[in-house]
Amino acid sequence: MKVTSSEIVISAVKPDQYPAVDLPEIALAGRSNVGKSSFINKMLARKSLARTSSKPGKTQTLNFYIINEILHFVDVPGYGYAKVSKKEREAWGKMIETYITTREQLRAVVLLIDVRHPPSKDDVLMYGFLKHYEIPTIIVATKADKIPKSKWQKHVKIIKDSLNMEKSDSFVLFSSETGQGKDEAWKIIESYTS
Ligand code: GDP
Repeated sequence: MKVTSSEIVISAVKPDQYPAVDLPEIALAGRSNVGKSSFINKMLARKSLARTSSKPGKTQTLNFYIINEILHFVDVPGYGYAKVSKKEREAWGKMIETYITTREQLRAVVLLIDVRHPPSKDDVLMYGFLKHYEIPTIIVATKADKIPKSKWQKHVKIIKDSLNMEKSDSFVLFSSETGQGKDEAWKIIESYTS
């Protein structure tokens, strides 16, 4: 998709703050530092629209972006940050669960995983959670430029096997440095939203 416009609509915590329009939504989730902001910025061809990671102390919000006036990206705050308090973690979990389980506009979730490492316990839990609620999932393996091409397939297999990835879900190897996977990711996203 050629992105001609993108902007943030709202940072929401509760359902009554979600945009009240009926546009298809793609949510984006992953552990802190996985490359989620870089992915969003690359996909939207913007330098720094998505803020780089939700660091502790910042309000954890769902950030809604409108793209070409036809689609929302919903940036979910990153998980797995060690210094987050139990209370913050619980609030995060509740916010995500409410969004995922009630939002009718949600078409699919992009789950970002760092291609260099096996999925974390939190990644596996998140994927299992999405499958429990039968949410179509697009696994985006980030930072592909950081490992040699000869190792890609081995790492991809470890990720798919560790998640027990369902065949109906999609997988994209991505790099926000080189732009690898961008067209493929858009093609898949469009298949869920048009
Ligand atoms: P977030 O916390 O998931 O939003 O992660 P960021 O997008 O802020 O990325 C975390 C760090 O990884 C930053 O230093 C990025 O520059 C770097 N990074 C993200 N994606 C890539 C990538 O595809 N290739 C490389 N080499 N670095 C990346």
